[in-house]
Amino acid sequence: MKASFFARGAALCVLSALLVSCARRSQPLTIIALDTVCSVNAFEDGTKKLYDEIEEALYNIEDTFDATDSNSRLSAINAAAGIGPSPADESITELLLLSEKVGRGTGGAFSPLLGPVIDLWGINTAEARVPDAREIEEALSLTKAEDLEVTGGTVFLKKRGMKLDLGGIAKGYACDVVRGILEEHAVKRAIIDLGGNIAFLGRKEDGTDWICGIKDPNSPNGEPLLKLETAETSVVTSGVYERYFEKDGRRYHHILDPATGRPAESGVLSMTVISPSSTLADALSTALLVLGADETFSLSDTLRRELGADLSFIAICGDGSVYASRSLEGSLSFFNGAGRKISYR
Ligand code: ADP
Ligand code: MG
Repeated sequence: MKASFFARGAALCVLSALLVSCARRSQPLTIIALDTVCSVNAFEDGTKKLYDEIEEALYNIEDTFDATDSNSRLSAINAAAGIGPSPADESITELLLLSEKVGRGTGGAFSPLLGPVIDLWGINTAEARVPDAREIEEALSLTKAEDLEVTGGTVFLKKRGMKLDLGGIAKGYACDVVRGILEEHAVKRAIIDLGGNIAFLGRKEDGTDWICGIKDPNSPNGEPLLKLETAETSVVTSGVYERYFEKDGRRYHHILDPATGRPAESGVLSMTVISPSSTLADALSTALLVLGADETFSLSDTLRRELGADLSFIAICGDGSVYASRSLEGSLSFFNGAGRKISYR
C-alpha cells in the first residue's frame, strides 16, 4: 500500500515536472525567414510550444510567398502566366485584393505585379544592373492591373512573363499572423520584429508605453534617429537604405515606382506607417515612400477614410527634414535631438 502510494506520488512528480518543463519560459524566438531576421519575444508567456508554432507559421508563409523560390505557391501561379488560372491559397488572394486597394488608394504607387521589373534590376542579387529604357518599357508592359484576374479561389496572370511579387506586403501579413497566434495563446505582452516590421502586443509589465526606435537612414550601423512611444500597435518602416546597389556613384534601391519602373525618387529616405494592421502598414509604407512626403500628408485623411481610421505616418527626408502626423505629437522625439525639429502635418 505504502509502496504503491509512493510510486503514484513519484509518477505524479514526474508528470508535473514534465508539464512544468513544457510550460517553462523559453528564450525568445530568433530565426531567419522571409529573407530577414525574425524575432518574437512573448516575455513571461513565451514557451517552446508557442515559439515552435510561430516558427512553423513563418516558414509556411515563406513557402507560400517567396517569389524567388520556384517551389513556392506564388511561383506556381507565376509559372502559369499566360496559360490559365491557378488555384490560390486564401492568403494569396487576400493579399492581392488588399494590394489592389492600396494601389488604388495611392494612385498606383503599390503594385503586386512588379515581378518582371524587380527581376530586371536584380537588386539584392549578384546580377544587379541598370537596365536600359527599352527593357524597362517591356517589363512595365507586363505589370498592367487589367491583366490580373483574382476570383474566390484562383489567380490568373493573363500574359506570359507576368510575375507576382508580394515582397512589399508579405512581412506585414506574417506579423499579423504571428500576432493572431500570440492572442490565441492569451499572451499578455509581446514584441514581434520581422526585419523592420514591428508589432507590440499588450503593455509593458510596468504599464508604460513601448518605446520603438526608428532608424537613422544615414547611419551605417542603423542607429535610431527617432523614438516613438506607443501603446499596442504595428510600426512598419520602408527605407531606401536597406537593399540597394551602387553604380557610377549612384545608388539604386529596391523600392520601385510602378509609373517609371525605376527606384522611387521622392526625396523620402524612410517612410514609417503606424496602424493596428501590420499588413496594411507594410503595403502603405512601400507605396508612400514612392509618393513622397507632400502627397502622403495631403492623402492622409483619404487613406484613413478608405483604408483604416487609425493610421499615422512619419517621413524622414533626404534633406534632413522629418514630418509626422499630428496624432503622434507628444509621443515622437529625436534620440539625440538638440536643435532638430519634427514638422507635424
Ligand atoms: P522591405 O521588404 O525591405 O522591408 P518593403 O516593404 O518596402 O521593404 O518592400 C520592398 C519590396 O517590395 C521589394 O523588394 C519588392 O519585392 C517589392 N516592391 C518594390 N517596389 C514596390 C512597389 N512600388 N509596390 C509593391 N511592391 C514593391
Ligand atoms: Mg512594405
